[in-house]
Amino acid sequence: MYLRTKKMPFDSFNEECGVIGIISPETYSIANTAYYGLFALQHRGQESCGIAVGNGKRIEYYKDMGLVPEVFNSARLETLPEGNIAIGHVRYSTTGASKLCNAQPIYFIGKMGKMALAHNGNLINTKQLRDALIAENGVFQTSIDSEVMALLINKYSTNSVVEGVLEACKYFKGSYSFVLMSSDKLIAVRDPYGIRPLCFGTIGDKYVVASETCALDALGATFVRDVEPGEVLVFDGSGIEFYHIDKPVEKKAHCIFEYVYFARPDSEIDGISVYASRKESGRILARKYPVEADLVAGVPDSAVVAARGYSEVSGIPYGEALTKNRYVGRTFIQPEQGMRETAVKVKMNVLRSNVCGKRIILIDDSIVRGTTSKKIVQMLRDAGAKEVHLRISSPISKHPCYFGIDTNDYSQLVGAFRTEEEIRDYIGCDSLHYLTIDELCETVHSDQKNFCLGCFNGEYPYIVEDKKEKEDKSLLDK
Ligand code: SF4
Repeated sequence: MYLRTKKMPFDSFNEECGVIGIISPETYSIANTAYYGLFALQHRGQESCGIAVGNGKRIEYYKDMGLVPEVFNSARLETLPEGNIAIGHVRYSTTGASKLCNAQPIYFIGKMGKMALAHNGNLINTKQLRDALIAENGVFQTSIDSEVMALLINKYSTNSVVEGVLEACKYFKGSYSFVLMSSDKLIAVRDPYGIRPLCFGTIGDKYVVASETCALDALGATFVRDVEPGEVLVFDGSGIEFYHIDKPVEKKAHCIFEYVYFARPDSEIDGISVYASRKESGRILARKYPVEADLVAGVPDSAVVAARGYSEVSGIPYGEALTKNRYVGRTFIQPEQGMRETAVKVKMNVLRSNVCGKRIILIDDSIVRGTTSKKIVQMLRDAGAKEVHLRISSPISKHPCYFGIDTNDYSQLVGAFRTEEEIRDYIGCDSLHYLTIDELCETVHSDQKNFCLGCFNGEYPYIVEDKKEKEDKSLLDK
C-alpha cells in the first residue's frame, strides 16, 4: 500500500524557500536569468516555483508545482515576455498547503498598480493580520502569509510602494526576506533580525538579489554585500535607494541552521562561509569527542564536509559509507509505516565493501525524529560494520522552529525530552555526541548574540504566543 506525498518523505529538516530578483536598465529575456538563479536555489525548495516578469506596462508570471526544470523548459520561458524586472521563487511549504494556489510569486493589482512578491520566511502573526484585514473587507485567495504581506503593503501604499513596505513591515512578526516588484522598481527587504539570508550583486549594469550567494555565482554576478537586517533596498534600474524598517531590535538573530544544513556549502552568508563552518564543526567534533575507529564518513550530502573536517583532525581516513539516490524528490511515493524501511533504503544505500569489518564514525548534521538514523545504523551493522559511532554537527534539536522551517512538533523531535544517552540507546549506535551550543557558535566564529538558536535552546527572536497557529493554518487548507 503506497501513499503519494508532496512532502519530502524523510526524517530531516526541510528547507524553506528561495528568492531571486533582477532589474536591468534595458529590456531583455530576463526570465532566463531568473531561471538560472532559481536553479541554483533549488535546494531551498522543491515543491513549486515561479517567475514573474515586468516590462514597465505589464507583469506576466508563470508558476506551477514541481522542480525548476520540471516547471520551466525553453518553450515555457519563451511565453514570458522580455522585460527589465523579474522575480522568482522556489517553495517548500511551511505555512499553507503544498498546492498551486499557494505557489509564488504572488501577483496582485493594488493602489500602485501591478505588483508581484516572493517571500522566504514565516510570519508568526499571520492569523491576526489576516483577521484584521478581513475585518476591513480584505479577501484572500491563498492560505499563505505572503499574501497577507502583499495586502498589508498595499494597504499602506498611500503615496508610494516604498511607504507601504516601510509601514507594513512594522506589523510583521517573524522571518522575512522578500523581493517585491512594481512596474518600475525592484524592492528587497530583510527582517530586522536578519533571520533568513538575502544578498545582492551586479551583472554589469544589472542588479541581482538572491537568497544565497551561490545564485549570484551561477549568474556570473559580482557579490556586493548581504542585505542588512531591517534594510529595504529600492532598485529603479539606475541605482539604489536605502531605507531602514523603523522597528529597532536588540540583536541580530540569523538562523544558525542555514550553516548547519539549509544553505549550499558554496554560499557565504553574512560574511561566513557555509563550507568553512561545516568543516570546522567536524574539526571540533574530532577534538571534543574522539573515538578510535577505521573510517570517518558523512551522511550525504550536507554532513560530508563536516566528516572531512573530522578526518583531518583525527587522522582517521575519510571514506564513503553511504550513497544517496539523488533522484528521490517531491514525487516520490512514500510507503506506509510497514514499508518505511524501504523508503530509507531507496534513498540511501550502504557501500558494503567500505564498511565491512570496520569501526565507523558517522557524521550527520542533525537528528529530527531519529528513525532514519536508527535505520542507517542498522544498515551499517547489517553490512558488517563492527562499531558505529555517531557524531552530530549541531546540538540536540529540542524545540520546533516557527520561522520558516518545517520542523515537527515536540512530540516528533527525538531530542525534545530525551538525554543524549537515551537518544543513543534509541538509535542503537555505540556512541553518540552532539556539538554544544557554544561549540556550534565556534563554527561561525561568533558568540550566541548574533544568532537564532531557538530549535536548540527554545529562545526565539520573538515571543511565540500562539504556538498552535500552524494547526489553525492547516484548517484553512482543508
Ligand atoms: S529556530 Fe532553529 S531553524 Fe528556526 S530560525 Fe531559529 S535556528 Fe533557524
